[in-house]
Amino acid sequence: MAKKSDQYCDFCRRSSKEVGMLVSGYTSCICDECAVKVKEFVELQMQAAGKAKAKNKAQNLLKGKTIPKPVEIKNFLDQYVIGQDHAKKILSVAVYNHYKRLTQPDDSNEVEIEKSNIIMVGSTGTGKTLLAKSIAKMLHVPFTIVDATVLTEAGYVGEDIESILTRLLQACDYDVDAAQMGIVFIDEIDKIARKGDNPSITRDVSGEGVQQGLLKLLEGSVVLVPPQGGRKHPDQKMIPVDTKNILFVCGGAFDGIERRISNRLNAQVVGYGASLKKEKIDTDNILQYVTPQDLKSFGLIPEIIGRLPMLTHLNALDRNALRRILTEPKNAIIKQYIKMFEIDGIKLEIDDAVLDFIVDKAVEFKLGARGLRSIVETIMLDEMFDLPSSGEKTFRVTLEEATKKLTHADAARLSAV
Ligand code: ADP
Repeated sequence: MAKKSDQYCDFCRRSSKEVGMLVSGYTSCICDECAVKVKEFVELQMQAAGKAKAKNKAQNLLKGKTIPKPVEIKNFLDQYVIGQDHAKKILSVAVYNHYKRLTQPDDSNEVEIEKSNIIMVGSTGTGKTLLAKSIAKMLHVPFTIVDATVLTEAGYVGEDIESILTRLLQACDYDVDAAQMGIVFIDEIDKIARKGDNPSITRDVSGEGVQQGLLKLLEGSVVLVPPQGGRKHPDQKMIPVDTKNILFVCGGAFDGIERRISNRLNAQVVGYGASLKKEKIDTDNILQYVTPQDLKSFGLIPEIIGRLPMLTHLNALDRNALRRILTEPKNAIIKQYIKMFEIDGIKLEIDDAVLDFIVDKAVEFKLGARGLRSIVETIMLDEMFDLPSSGEKTFRVTLEEATKKLTHADAARLSAV
């Protein structure tokens, strides 16, 4: 048998003296450097093979499923979300196109349909997450919602950007092929806006740094994903995921963006023909005029904005919308309470005046749609406690009773429910 000093790497022919470490197998040896190169080569080959397979798999997964048309998708959303027609239209078209792209045969001579990621701008509690959740109900592809606030640049406290894809993988039981055609909703995207105009003062690890990382995901590339999320560590086996066909939908409140939009609009309306333009501006709903330029001035980097080409807004919810939200959606709050009492054999009746009163209070306390539930909860609490054991068969809520219940509840307590 050869002495250790006589051994050499069968790949690069260097002897054990010339390399850091030599690993010997049954009949041959490999040095540390060649081992690393081989590992990288195998990983690349596997990624390439995975990409080719994914397209076929996508077509197989969707085979036999009826792909909903944009109008059908919007009709479906109408059952759950009140108003927000523009956002619904944009989402319906984007999801439909997403399916179309997935089912196109892979032919390099053909025109390739590129994905159109979406960004939704709207105050908190106007239905961004609800839209995303509702659309997930009718999809045949994996879907996940992630929060951008926890993301930080690699190496800092927080979650790595790749953990977004971990969530998607978890949503489909680590079926990589399925995940590669999924949809990801990134909430609170405004929280990763650049913190200041001058990035050199402090490192902006949760702002611009994250945006740079996110770019890689949005534009479509093979990303190595830690299967359990959290931080990457050297021993962890990474899963390569190609984001080329993953549709990203981003949402954010962008607090204060209205002022920037108004400033821009005001700047535009100075000068020739100004009075004509000014008349057309609907100052109650400034968000409808949002442009990519406003997102940039808010602190999103142009590269990110460029990869989110579909920009839409959600309207603020007025009194009328809040009133409809109480009773109309498929799982409207009032419908939920009627069902809860029904389970105990109790018929719940709520006077119309009470519903108007609930809306008035939500507006007065500036609680928005989220506050509706806490107000209803406050009004119903005593009866939900007493009635199941009282043997009563009906429960009618009158304006007088509702007013009495709410007199002691202040805004702070309501919003905390
Ligand atoms: P955000 O825009 O902050 O993501 P959500 O979608 O989470 O807001 O809305 C919070 C709650 O308010 C929802 O669960 C839903 O009950 C209600 N809501 C908000 N907007 C609407 C809407 N347009 N139609 C129906 N319900 C709504």
